[in-house]
Amino acid sequence: MDLKDKFAGLMRQRKGRLTHEMVLAPGKFGLGKTPERLQPDSTTSMICGFCSTGCSLKIHLKDGKAVNLTPDPEYPVNLGMACPKGWEALTPLKADDRATMPMLRGEDGKLAPVEWDAALRLFTDKLKATIARHGRESVAFLSTGQIPTEEMFMLGLLTKFGMGLVHGDANTRQCMATSHVAYKQSFGFDAPPFTYKDYEESDVLVFFGANPCIAHPIMWERVMMNPRKPEIIVVDPRQTETALAATRHYALQPKSDLPLLYGLAHILIREGWIDQAYVDAHTSGFEAFREHVKTFEPAFVGKLTGLGQAALLEFAKSLRPGKRVSLWWTMGVNQSHEGVRTAQAIINLALLTGNMGKPGTGANSITGQVNAMGSRLFSNTTGLPGGRNYQDAAHRKEVADILGIDAAIIQQKPGLAYDQILAGVKEGRIKALWVIATNPAHSWVDQEEFRRVAANLELLVVQDMYHDTDTAQLAHLVLPSAGWGEKEGVVINSERRLGLFKKVYPAPGQALADFYIFKLIAKYWGCESLFKDMDTPEQAFHTMSRLSVGRPCDFSGIEDYKMIDREGGIQWPLPALTSKATASAATVPASDNGNASAVIPAATGSAAPTAPRKIVRERRLFEDGRYYHPDGKAKFQFGPPQPIPEPVTPEFPFALLTGRGSSAQWHTNTRTGKSAVLRKLYSADSLVEIHPEDASRLKVVAGEWVIVRSLRGQARARAAVASTVQPGQLFMPMHDVEVNRLTFPSYDPHSRQPSYKHCAVRIEKEKAD
Ligand code: SF4
Repeated sequence: MDLKDKFAGLMRQRKGRLTHEMVLAPGKFGLGKTPERLQPDSTTSMICGFCSTGCSLKIHLKDGKAVNLTPDPEYPVNLGMACPKGWEALTPLKADDRATMPMLRGEDGKLAPVEWDAALRLFTDKLKATIARHGRESVAFLSTGQIPTEEMFMLGLLTKFGMGLVHGDANTRQCMATSHVAYKQSFGFDAPPFTYKDYEESDVLVFFGANPCIAHPIMWERVMMNPRKPEIIVVDPRQTETALAATRHYALQPKSDLPLLYGLAHILIREGWIDQAYVDAHTSGFEAFREHVKTFEPAFVGKLTGLGQAALLEFAKSLRPGKRVSLWWTMGVNQSHEGVRTAQAIINLALLTGNMGKPGTGANSITGQVNAMGSRLFSNTTGLPGGRNYQDAAHRKEVADILGIDAAIIQQKPGLAYDQILAGVKEGRIKALWVIATNPAHSWVDQEEFRRVAANLELLVVQDMYHDTDTAQLAHLVLPSAGWGEKEGVVINSERRLGLFKKVYPAPGQALADFYIFKLIAKYWGCESLFKDMDTPEQAFHTMSRLSVGRPCDFSGIEDYKMIDREGGIQWPLPALTSKATASAATVPASDNGNASAVIPAATGSAAPTAPRKIVRERRLFEDGRYYHPDGKAKFQFGPPQPIPEPVTPEFPFALLTGRGSSAQWHTNTRTGKSAVLRKLYSADSLVEIHPEDASRLKVVAGEWVIVRSLRGQARARAAVASTVQPGQLFMPMHDVEVNRLTFPSYDPHSRQPSYKHCAVRIEKEKAD
């Protein structure tokens, strides 16, 4: 063969590994063409395990095991679409660093495998000894929004009612605590009012501190399906991917969103651009709110936000009654030193203009993690199951009666928040910490402080699907857990839709679903009677369902997992048909029970259904204008804006903004970093965006390594010179482990959610050795 033939053979090889792998064959089950080597013999659908969009993925099964997946075309959320993370969801299950056995750190400082029996004896003996020596408050746990609701529920029951712990929180504190508190205070219950159809039905969509193009790409696809040629307004200091695609972008000064929102309310009221009839009928506190915003005149607000008076007027005009306006927010608002008041200022705009309970409207919090909503309702951390309050004796009794426990064992106030737990560790009051499916050694604000604090612990237990996360590397004991796809349970998405995780892949080695780890711990602890009717996740679901009865989130109308599957997910509320309440919150009035959070009527009557129940697939709340406060009204909530906790200084002259880097990354990259496909979709190196004027002044050229430094630490990154940030600002994606060495530990006083979005830094050229 001459050289020419050899070369041609190389370029057009018809046989060999890659060619074989790429052969497609007609797929069954309506799948179109699928790789021949991955032909399934059956399929099932389940919810993706990353973000709160809650897309459904059709899993291709061969001999009962997942071999491939495609987005589910039938599901009302994603309509056949998925982002890169969803397409690659099976890959992280096969990673080499899966935890397959419990591991104990030996005297040589290394983790070594031990049997489950030894691990759980040690877990139980050490924690019981700690409690005996230092009291119930000396042991705490930190959980997650990534596991199914049944598992969060079991953990909450086990720790608070079985083990007798007082303090436990979750990474949902970093994600949705602000929205939770904002809704609860404004509406009387933590109730995101929207359905995704609202993306398609708005005339004006306003995104505050949200970048759905890459953070919630399927929600953005729903925006793109809007046939009404909507105005899309983005409020963000940075020119994000969403801002670039928007019709209007207000690049305000970082953390000036609260004065901006009060300024908009000022103009709307001054100009009479409000829905006074709605305000009068369905809200309380309007007069005091009107007084409050009087001082937020455009000239004053313009100075704080950097937006001109004409721009403010133009913005306010877009919100005038007459059009369908939907207001959306996510982490740019939630992760703020005054996130709750900012979220409520957005809610206030929707109330003022009557943009609630109608198609294409709403004050809508986009959730972060796949099951943050499950955590908010059932984790038994900041509130009792079903969105009840620890402080309320009637609520404690209801929970105790349903669970068959003594109400006296239920604590009368919530335990400490995440940051307060870490302060307790620092001060030596908390001696042992159990971390489940989260990675604070990477994700916690002011990360170096977390690492210093963790060194104080007598026992750090990490329960995770990987044995080498940043946090597992600090652990004394690692418990191996099954991941998404290896266990079952219910998750609740941003629009309150319950969907299913299913077991479609075997967990490796001795890894167990968290549900069964909690059951085992209950057995070793001696409190397994707590779970006597909850041998499977579905049985635990039925207990949760009973706990939801009469609550705004009542889903007692869901008969079983099969019904969730059959219906394409089910939004709460869905009370049982034996209740006078029906499927729509519009017909579910709040009753005046004298409590801070209202209830819907308890099940009464016995009308048995004669025909299959028809469930509307996309439902929004508050169609009848009734909210969950005892008076049935929404409350205007407000307060004075607070100064930025760490303003820039001559020594640290840049404001550092952080956020999601790409649609291929999830949080600390423990899972997405395992996919070679996803890794190709983002920079392998840490990046810092810097404005061209600043780069030129500092003689920083694109692509060179620089050091970003704050009072707490430093990070090395390549300079990305781009006018996406304004002069005086830098942006770094949150997924790189160095970023939280820089962030400043400040917290919203109401939600105790950390503020990740602003701290003072400087940038330096890296010195040559
Ligand atoms: Fe999964 Fe979220 Fe991507 Fe949908 S948008 S596929 S839920 S990560």
